[in-house]
Amino acid sequence: MSMPAILSASYREVCMWQEQVPRDDRAVGDLPDGVDVLVVGAGYCGLGAADGAASAGADVLVLDKEPLGWGASSRNGGMVIPELKAGPEKLAKKIGDLAHRLYEEVEEAFDHTEDLVAQMDCDYRRSGQLYLAHTPRHTPYLRDLAAELQRSGQAVHFLDAAAVTARTGSTAFDSAIFYEKVGGLHPAKFHDGMAKRALAAGAAVHDRTGVTGIRSRAGGFEVETTRGRVRASQVIVGTNAYMDSAVPDLAKRILPINSYIIATEPLTQEQRDVIGPQMMVDTKNLLFYWRLTADGRMIFGGRNRLDPVDIPVARDFLYDNMVRIHPQLQGVAIDYAWTGFVAMTLDRLPHVGTIDGVWYATGCNGTGVSLNGWLGHRLGHVVTGQAPPPAFAELKHPSIPLKPLSPSYVPLVGRYFALQDRR
Ligand SMILES: Cc1cc2nc3c(=O)[nH]c(=O)nc-3n(C[C@H](O)[C@H](O)[C@H](O)COP(=O)(O)OP(=O)(O)OC[C@H]3O[C@@H](n4cnc5c(N)ncnc54)[C@H](O)[C@@H]3O)c2cc1C
Repeated sequence: MSMPAILSASYREVCMWQEQVPRDDRAVGDLPDGVDVLVVGAGYCGLGAADGAASAGADVLVLDKEPLGWGASSRNGGMVIPELKAGPEKLAKKIGDLAHRLYEEVEEAFDHTEDLVAQMDCDYRRSGQLYLAHTPRHTPYLRDLAAELQRSGQAVHFLDAAAVTARTGSTAFDSAIFYEKVGGLHPAKFHDGMAKRALAAGAAVHDRTGVTGIRSRAGGFEVETTRGRVRASQVIVGTNAYMDSAVPDLAKRILPINSYIIATEPLTQEQRDVIGPQMMVDTKNLLFYWRLTADGRMIFGGRNRLDPVDIPVARDFLYDNMVRIHPQLQGVAIDYAWTGFVAMTLDRLPHVGTIDGVWYATGCNGTGVSLNGWLGHRLGHVVTGQAPPPAFAELKHPSIPLKPLSPSYVPLVGRYFALQDRR
C-alpha cells in the first residue's frame, strides 16, 4: 500500500500544462471540399507534417477530433531525448546498418527540435539527463551502455553513487549515465508554438472534427469526417496512441498504455538547488521519470502496472516513490495529477509507413517529443516530393499479437515487469 499523497487545497485531476496554455476553439468555418494534404491528428506529429507540407506551398488541412492541445503532446513530461530503447550497437546486431541510420535520424530530430524551440517561448533548457540504476544489479549494464554510447560519439558520462548524490541529493541510486544532449521544455507551450508555426505556414487547423474513414479514390482519397466529406490528394495520420478505427490496420500495430504524472506545489529554492535542473529516469521496466519545471515544481511520472488504474491510486503510488527518492520533499503537497496514453510497439521502436497509400508515423514508446514532430515534418516533405521517406520507414511494423485479447494479458505482463523490478 502506498502512503496517501499530501494534497494542496487547490488540488485537481487535470493536466497542469494544458491549464497553463488556454486555447481558442478552432472548429470554426466550413471544411474545404478538397485539399492537397489532409493531416489526421493535431499533436506534434500532425502539426510538424502540416508545417513541412504547407511551407512547400501545399494546401493543407489538419483535423483533430478533440480540442486543440488535448493529446499526449500537451500532457507529457517535456523531456527532449535523442534516444531509442536499445543502444546503437545492440540495435545493429538485430537490424544491421539500418540501426546507425535510425540513430542519425534521432539526432537530426533532436537538432530540428532545438532549432524550433529557439524560435518560440516554451521554457526550453538543455539541462542533460540522468539515467539512474535503481538497483546495483543494473550498474554493469549502465557501465557497458555508457562505453557503447561513447564509442558512437555521444557525450555521456558514467557516474557512481556518490556523484549521483552530489547532483540530485538522492541516495536511492547505485550509479547513472549522464547524457549531456537532453533538454526539458513546457510541452503545451511547445505544442502551441508548433500550432502557430503550422498556421503561419498557411495550414488550416480544425479541432473537434474527427476522421471516421479514409477511402482511396481516383487521384487520392475521400476522407469522411464528423463534419462532412473532404477530398485529399495525400493523407498523413499522426494519431499515435490515440488512434481509433479511422485506420483499422494501424490500430492493430499499437498498444496504448497509460502513463501518470503528479505535479507538486512550487518548491523552495533550497529544494530546487539540491535536486538540480536535469531530466531523470530510472532503469526499471515500469520506469519513473521526473524533473523540475521552469516554475520550480517537481513533476514525477510513471506507473506501477500496465493496465489502467484510477488517478488517485497512481497519484499515491507516485508520491510515495517521489518522497522515497527525494526525502527532502517530505511534506510537499500535490497540486495536479493527470494521465495520458503512450503508444507501445512490439519492437519498442517508432514506425513510419503507408497503409493503402496513407502515410503514418507512430509508436513513440514514451519518447516522442522530438521524434514524432520531426517524423511528421519529414512526412510533410515526403508527400510534397521534397524528401525521400525517413529510414524509419524501412523497419517492418509487426502487429501486436492477439491485440483484441490485450486487456487480459497486458496486466499479467505488467505484473511480471513489476516483479523483475523488485529483484
Ligand atoms: C504522460 C506522458 C508522458 C510523456 N513523457 C514524454 C517525455 O517526457 N518525453 C518524450 O519524448 N515523450 C513523452 N511522451 C510521449 C509524447 O508525448 C508523444 O510521443 C507525443 O506527444 C506524440 O505526439 P503525436 O502528435 O504523435 O500524438 P498526440 O499528441 O497524442 O496527438 C494525436 C492526436 O490525434 C487525434 N486523433 C486521434 N484519432 C483521430 C481521428 N480519428 N480524427 C481526428 N483526430 C484524431 C487525438 O485527438 C490527438 O490529439 C509522454 C507521453 C505521455 C502520455
